[in-house]
Amino acid sequence: MTSHLDALGNDRVRRFLAEGQSDGPVLVVDSEVVRANYAKFAHALPDTRVFYAVKANPDPKILKLLAELGSCFDCASVAEIDMALATGASADRISFGNTIKKERDVAAAYARGVRLFAVDCREEVEKIERAAPGAKVFCRILADGAGAEWPLSRKFGCAPEMAADVLEHAHVRGLIAYGVSFHVGSQQNNVGAWDAALASAAEIFRECERRGLALSMVNLGGGFPTRYLRDVPAVEAYGASIFEALRAHFGNRIPETIIEPGRGMVGDAGWIEAEVVLVSKKSDAEDEIRWVYLDIGKFGGLAETMDEAIRYPIRTAHDGGATAPCVLAGPTCDSADVLYEKTPYPLPVSLSIGDKVLIEACGAYTTTYAAVAFNGFLPLASHVI
Ligand SMILES: *Cc1c(COP(=O)(O)O)cnc(C)c1O
Repeated sequence: MTSHLDALGNDRVRRFLAEGQSDGPVLVVDSEVVRANYAKFAHALPDTRVFYAVKANPDPKILKLLAELGSCFDCASVAEIDMALATGASADRISFGNTIKKERDVAAAYARGVRLFAVDCREEVEKIERAAPGAKVFCRILADGAGAEWPLSRKFGCAPEMAADVLEHAHVRGLIAYGVSFHVGSQQNNVGAWDAALASAAEIFRECERRGLALSMVNLGGGFPTRYLRDVPAVEAYGASIFEALRAHFGNRIPETIIEPGRGMVGDAGWIEAEVVLVSKKSDAEDEIRWVYLDIGKFGGLAETMDEAIRYPIRTAHDGGATAPCVLAGPTCDSADVLYEKTPYPLPVSLSIGDKVLIEACGAYTTTYAAVAFNGFLPLASHVI
């Protein structure tokens, strides 16, 4: 079936889809967009090292490209560490950024040469001491996720007041107390969101200094947004705001910094082509809302529609014509597999069964969130071009 979305996507993605014979939903990632995003981060934060958050999209081609561009990697597991190493990047370009690690995984990372680990409590420090002696650790602190469309819970990080104790504990145990990290919440629309966390970080640096510990690094985390339906500030605005906050809180003793962009690196590089499986109504009443069922839903890769948090732009070949609100749902026999219902999604009234749609900004947090065979549906197919 040919795609009827000729005016949509970018040229490269359009051409790829036009040639394709895919029978199911497919993600196409344009590596040129990833390349441009990396350049934007490098330009906006010139003194900051980039550790790409592998979990956002671990496709080997994306990792290889980023490695060639000079990126380092923030990994959440030994499997992700192996994916990063497979690019040819050396282990000193890898951070084991998950604060919740099995001790044997710490040992496995150490055996592979990884020497940089996240912690947020004394118990985790002791695992690192035993399994990765002498390694560098940074302490993650809780940050207020206000302004983020995909806020993070209290699962990761300790109260800022506890961080100096955790870092001192690391020092006493023969580890290198290296710095502080935080994450201001994913899809963070407020360019000023880093300020409060940097104030806390600077206070931890001072407290550690009083205890005779010289910290080196602040890990600014991820949170840089992708454009979905609404415009987001440019990466340059984030860079300027972060630099201003660093100057305000650290004066002329600005520490080494790293960022861990995930969504901001790959989100807008990916398009999912999907198909309308069914358009129907639940009654014959005049004002009854249409239900539109796609061949992709929450279990096929669009998990971030949970609580309708992320609203993807959806393009159709009927765009420009009259629209009406729809409930948008996925194809599985699970009643949770509804994408947008509380806030119905406007789609063209002429949209019909068999039409293809193009879902934009799907490069991050889609393939890895797709179930392996829930209801017998294959995991989301993915191509990096
Ligand atoms: C997920 C994650 C990131 C990436 O976050 P984005 O909002 O996608 O940029 C960065 N750092 C850590 C520790 C993470 O867990």
